[in-house]
Amino acid sequence: MQTELSRASLAQLDANDPLIRFRERFQLPEGVIYLDGNSLGALPHGAAERAAQVVTQQWGHGLIRSWNDAGWFELPTRLGDKLAQLLGANPGETVVTDTTSLNLFKALASALRIQQVDGPDRRVLITERDNFPTDIYIAEGLADLLNSVGAETGVSYEVKLIDSETELLAALGDDTALVSLSHVNYRTGAMWDMAAITEAVHQAGGLAIWDLAHAAGAVPVALNAANADYAVGCTYKYLNGGPGSPAFIWVNARHHERFWQPLSGWWSHQAPFAMAESYTPANDVRRFMCGTQPVTSMAMIEVGLDISVEAEMDKVRANSLELTDLFIELVETRCAGYGLELITPRDHARRGSHVSFSHPNGYEIIAALISRGVIGDYREPAVLRFGVTPLYLSRTDIWDAVEILREVLHTGAWQREEFTVRNAVT
Ligand SMILES: *Cc1c(COP(=O)(O)O)cnc(C)c1O
Repeated sequence: MQTELSRASLAQLDANDPLIRFRERFQLPEGVIYLDGNSLGALPHGAAERAAQVVTQQWGHGLIRSWNDAGWFELPTRLGDKLAQLLGANPGETVVTDTTSLNLFKALASALRIQQVDGPDRRVLITERDNFPTDIYIAEGLADLLNSVGAETGVSYEVKLIDSETELLAALGDDTALVSLSHVNYRTGAMWDMAAITEAVHQAGGLAIWDLAHAAGAVPVALNAANADYAVGCTYKYLNGGPGSPAFIWVNARHHERFWQPLSGWWSHQAPFAMAESYTPANDVRRFMCGTQPVTSMAMIEVGLDISVEAEMDKVRANSLELTDLFIELVETRCAGYGLELITPRDHARRGSHVSFSHPNGYEIIAALISRGVIGDYREPAVLRFGVTPLYLSRTDIWDAVEILREVLHTGAWQREEFTVRNAVT
């Protein structure tokens, strides 16, 4: 492929690619190459209409009747079952609800509660130093809560941060309560071997919790095959659910009747409308809900979800690897000598669906790219991050984006004053 790599040869490949037709399912602005679908997915056609239907007909006309008549009450589990197809999960194991941060809190707390029964001396929560901040903060917050409540008993939970797989395996032991990892690292795009790590965690007597924020809809996930314990993730990234759309939580069926979660709101009750005076949890995954759900936002998720299910993850994955390979190759050849350093693994088995480079002027370069319609994003420290979403990106998009990057680097256009101004969201 190297020798005859050209825009024309890539356009030829695009023309014969069956996944290309999915691009028409999205509404993308003219003149934009969108390389940030790993942060906020694009708008699928039909999502605005779905929201309008919920607001105008179901709310406006149906009013309170819509909880029954329009299926609002079933939405979290119905969407969870649809999503399960992308996660290697069975129906009845997944629920769409709350945010990823909140779902992490519930998953970690319920795993600790299981350990309190099964292995009471297990008080260490292991996660990665390089994990997404909320994953670390929530673990710290939960440990702090438990320690402050249990202060008099001398109970002490601890969050241990590891820097590598070697350190992780060395840290596992009799005191391990749980290991919480992101399947795909938000910054580098590095991917853990979920099955192998889960097995090692189980052998040490721990429980394995996976954050699928950068994995769901991006790579094939096989939660049951990996024998994972819990998983959480976003729907607004690769699943194209819309800004701030509710997250999901999955629990292995073997834990369904024994886990407990601390946000025991009425929606997690066995019979919410019995209005019972005390709490009896639902004996299935609905136990992970809390209160009334954001119906409009949740309803929109289905539109993007249907597209991902129809496209099939194995095909999406094949294109994702081809496009990320192409992106790496083009940057390393056409933008050579400008100081960009690949921090994403080259090994397919270890790569998610985004590509990151480090560069001391990463922020300015990304800002200059965005001003030219190539939307990637910047992550501290000094990381340029490019999400590759095969549902709406082609090989020629990758070519064009790299040519614009080359121009920005070659002309030094990124050095303009305006590109140094930091926005609140980068
Ligand atoms: C994006 C992301 C989140 C976001 O959590 P919210 O509660 O939706 O803000 C959490 N974890 C990881 C790994 C992420 O990439």
